[in-house]
Amino acid sequence: MSKHQKDLTIEKLMNQIKTYVTDQKELDVISEAYRFAYEKHFGQKRLTGEDYIIHPLNVAYILTRINADYETLSAALLHDVVEDCNVSVDEIEEKFGHNIAILVDGVTKINKLNLSGTTEALINNQRKILVGLSEDVRVIIIKLADRLNNMQTLFVHSEKKQKETARETLDILTPIADRLGINSIKQDLEEFCLRYLKPSEYYDIVEKLNATKAERDNSVAKMIETVSELLNKHDIKHEIFGRSKSIYSIYKKLEKGKRFSEIYDLLALRILVDSEQDCYQALGIIHSKFRPKPKRFKDYIAMPKTNMYQSLHTTVFGVDGQLYEIQIRTYEMDRVAEYGIASHWSYKEKGSVKAVMQNEMEQKLQFFRAIMDLKKEQDNAADFVDTVKKEVFQNTIYVFTPLGDVIELPNGSTPIDFAYKVHSKVGDKAVGAIVNSNMVPLDYQLKSDDIVKIITNNNSAGPSREWLNIVKTTQAKNKIKAFFNKANKEENLKKGEDILSKELRKQKISNDDFFEDEKIKKLLSDLKVNSVNELYSNLGSGKVSIGTVMDYFLKKEVTKEEKILEKAAKGSQKQSEGNSLISTSGINDIKVNLASCCNPVPGDRIVGYITKGYGITIHRMVCPNVSNLDERLIEVNWNTNSSKLPTNILVRVNNSKNTLIDIISKAANNDIPVRKFNSHHSKEDEVIEMTVLVDNKDQLVKLMNDIRMIPEVTDVERLIK
Ligand code: MN
Repeated sequence: MSKHQKDLTIEKLMNQIKTYVTDQKELDVISEAYRFAYEKHFGQKRLTGEDYIIHPLNVAYILTRINADYETLSAALLHDVVEDCNVSVDEIEEKFGHNIAILVDGVTKINKLNLSGTTEALINNQRKILVGLSEDVRVIIIKLADRLNNMQTLFVHSEKKQKETARETLDILTPIADRLGINSIKQDLEEFCLRYLKPSEYYDIVEKLNATKAERDNSVAKMIETVSELLNKHDIKHEIFGRSKSIYSIYKKLEKGKRFSEIYDLLALRILVDSEQDCYQALGIIHSKFRPKPKRFKDYIAMPKTNMYQSLHTTVFGVDGQLYEIQIRTYEMDRVAEYGIASHWSYKEKGSVKAVMQNEMEQKLQFFRAIMDLKKEQDNAADFVDTVKKEVFQNTIYVFTPLGDVIELPNGSTPIDFAYKVHSKVGDKAVGAIVNSNMVPLDYQLKSDDIVKIITNNNSAGPSREWLNIVKTTQAKNKIKAFFNKANKEENLKKGEDILSKELRKQKISNDDFFEDEKIKKLLSDLKVNSVNELYSNLGSGKVSIGTVMDYFLKKEVTKEEKILEKAAKGSQKQSEGNSLISTSGINDIKVNLASCCNPVPGDRIVGYITKGYGITIHRMVCPNVSNLDERLIEVNWNTNSSKLPTNILVRVNNSKNTLIDIISKAANNDIPVRKFNSHHSKEDEVIEMTVLVDNKDQLVKLMNDIRMIPEVTDVERLIK
């Protein structure tokens, strides 16, 4: 496990950097960044009592382990000057250029966010951060190194703070490091987390490892010698290392109920060779000499993990009858295994390394793609968090398309989940599945490494409702529901059209008369629908009755009292909704809706509007949709002051540079969940429409004021549609 370096100097750092950065101009930028940070942090101390600059130096030093590029290293040295030294991002941009400024700005912004906490709202925001920050993956990488150095010096903090930091790291940061494949940082983070969260378990493992160390070292040395001789005999150029298992991975196995003595891969070797062919050859040679343990062989070369990891894994009975876990891989695979996405830094690719990494992150790491998909399909924050946890962080299986593409699915997924993951059209038309050349039922449970082919039929009528009980992923569920909603819509439309034309024939009203321009316009506005199609689908779904439509058309006015009584009668048959929220003078059991145009929240001045066939709709008094409808309005009052209702606000921003994160963090600080985000760009500004869940108007006003304080924000208003 890496340690904090108390006496790290810029010279030592530069020497390390020079082992892989050779461009003098780039080295100069790094030196300049150091001088700038040194000057700005001068006189500041860390809690450890050290000069502050030791921290950014250590962060940069950690990043040299994954051969970070000069922009990332410079930004690492500068990462705290904006937050702690009143330096502006503009000044960084002027001195060090746009790219470095963006990185520093990104790190500063995530450091301001409170990533900890267990409330739905906060976890929800953390997910947004993950997505938001994917604008430049290097920001996340710097954050990981920053956190690692902070963990390295966590001993100065209180036990409470230690546990909080460790929890947050384990919940949010190590899964990201894992998905990005940055093992070398991930393992250190996990180990520190364990040390602070479960100190007795941690030290217990450390002690046991120490107690058996001499013996293990001895066995491993013997095994290395034997294997090395064997490979030399077959002319396979190689290097071979004894490998210590991470304490955290041992802990995970113990936690699963294994005994310490059973964890055979405590004895572990890693063999590095030049080519993929050598990997398989070495494996064959080793298996011919040492008996492999059944079912322990894994070929991650032919089937890489989605974070790009490649290697052969096998467990054999070694020299003294002990079990050895052996990994065989090429040097290149080893670099990917340790650096993950950051391995591109060491490839010297043409073009922008940043673009390559970004592309790779979006293309290959389905983790982020999964989140993007979910973001589109999932409105509810609690569902979302649940989904992310279930689908993304745990129990994932990897299956293959017939062409060899990897599809990532949650454990327990079926061919239907697979089909919808491939494409909604494939899902909608699926009639059967072939897994590993065998026909299987659609509720078959897929296993990792299955090769799945979906049989589709263009004449298929679509998914079956039964599937909703079979599928595992929310994505498939939503797509099946969407199919039925759409099918229903079309059906209702048709039905509504039939109902109306039948009624017109019955009443001997001609189509021309009914659809006469002025009349139909008036009718639609009276019924509060936007189009004839909407009228049809409301008729078809029974949302409005044909009687009501004809009443309006024939202008048979009914008195207000009659209407209320009618509504009251209807309302009592239906299950009443939301009326604990609102009190209306003397009327109970009426269905109360909050208007979706102005989204009132407790504290707003409101008025009820009596709607034919609907009950009472509550609008804000300022809503233009009710301002000239006196006679059908009734007085209503809020009953409660706390209920998390959705309402919409518009935020205008004149510069979109990471502002999203600022806005989200304001919401998080006010404990306000954000349900939906929509942004429209124009040339000079961006308009963000967001749906937030608030308890009352006061909370909303506070949030709007907070958002107004963000420098890039030019205007915040409530939205009335
Ligand atoms: Mn820092």
